[in-house]
Amino acid sequence: MLHHRLLQRLQRLRRRGLQNSPILWAVVLAALLEVVFHGFRFRVPVPPRELDTPFYTTCQEPDVTAPRENAAIVMLARNEEVEQARRSVESLERHFNQWFKYPIVFLNDEPWSDEFIQTLNATTSAEAIFDYVPKKDWLFPEWIDQEDAKASMKAQGESGILYAGKETYHHMCRFFSGYFYQVEALKKYKWYWRLEPDVEFSCAITYDPFREMVRHNKIYGFTIALFEEKRTCPSLFRKVSDWKEAENIPSTSMWNAGVTASWVPWPFRGHMSWFSHRDRHGDGWNTCHYWSNFEIADLDFFRGEKYQSLFQKLDKDGGFYYERWGDAPVHTLAVNMLAKPHQIHHFADIGYRHDTFYQCPANAPGGQLPESKTLNSAKETWAPELEGGVGCRCECDGRKSLNIPSYCHDKLRAPNTMRRPWSTWFLSWIYA
Ligand code: GDP
Ligand code: MN
Repeated sequence: MLHHRLLQRLQRLRRRGLQNSPILWAVVLAALLEVVFHGFRFRVPVPPRELDTPFYTTCQEPDVTAPRENAAIVMLARNEEVEQARRSVESLERHFNQWFKYPIVFLNDEPWSDEFIQTLNATTSAEAIFDYVPKKDWLFPEWIDQEDAKASMKAQGESGILYAGKETYHHMCRFFSGYFYQVEALKKYKWYWRLEPDVEFSCAITYDPFREMVRHNKIYGFTIALFEEKRTCPSLFRKVSDWKEAENIPSTSMWNAGVTASWVPWPFRGHMSWFSHRDRHGDGWNTCHYWSNFEIADLDFFRGEKYQSLFQKLDKDGGFYYERWGDAPVHTLAVNMLAKPHQIHHFADIGYRHDTFYQCPANAPGGQLPESKTLNSAKETWAPELEGGVGCRCECDGRKSLNIPSYCHDKLRAPNTMRRPWSTWFLSWIYA
């Protein structure tokens, strides 16, 4: 092998006294240059102008008579989450849906309890639809050896990977990766807004996000992006990038933004692919992903031939069970690969919390429409307005929040809008 010979040659040189060997220095220099050039291939060009700005940066008078998009809000939930589900729906109702009245589709893998149906019906002013995940979409596929999979999930759980010991969690991630956009109740819709129990909205959303997604030619919107727990998906990036290569899909800048070029020179770089989160050439993935418990996106993207083919390949691989692939990294890699960067939208103006992570926009100075009767009937107080704020009547305080910045998008931001707190540099350094 070529690099074997190279090693032998280096050893011979060492015996001869390597410090003075011009050949050795030439080799070192060539390797360094090669690494630099290699890294250059993943360079993300800074766009001359911002690719993705908030749809609105101030409150709007909600246009309650405008035509609606063909869209639904979707929540998968368990009966025992009735209280958390109620809180989420109530929060969305107060900050958005009392004006826009998009239907909410509730999905469950088990029969709904009367309590859940009654409580949620009473919480939303829009239509509520209670439907089910088809049994076939919540079972091990036939090519999975169930004994093996169960043993693997047990081991994952014992090693402390969050939820990985729970079989239902694996089914859930697989369902959201490959099946939710095909359930009967969603068939007629083109757009969805994913909602989860126990989330909180903290700003008024006074425009129709679906309408703006259409107007701006977007297909995928998110609020928070963060790094994945690495042990959940050691081989996911390899599988996705192998598929990408087989399909000859060129790298978009969003794809490259997630790739950390290996610093190991050719011809040794390829050996790095033995490690997790690496493609077959040895380059790595930083695991940055859109947090999919909030998504506003185009169902047809997922129903499309390319995404379907990718999902089939991942599903056959078994990583939804033998590892604990989440739907968030699966969606993210697919979106970053298959969508154009300008089709991805960061809802920087939406205040959102789930678990302990949140995004809290500052309020736009002079943009709060204090006279608006419609808005005042929903909320009359809000946190202080701040220069550069884009929020509408956010009650969370943009000054002292522990915001989770959108790491994934930052590499693609025009320089004057790039605000990257030191903590994110630090995190990307550790995780890179
Ligand atoms: P996390 O957000 O990753 O911490 O996971 P969650 O426990 O919040 O689950 C994600 C979503 O799937 C939530 O909407 C849950 O209600 C839902 N979910 C998770 N497991 C099940 C399940 O076994 N049955 C049903 N019906 N929903 C589930
Ligand atoms: Mn959750």
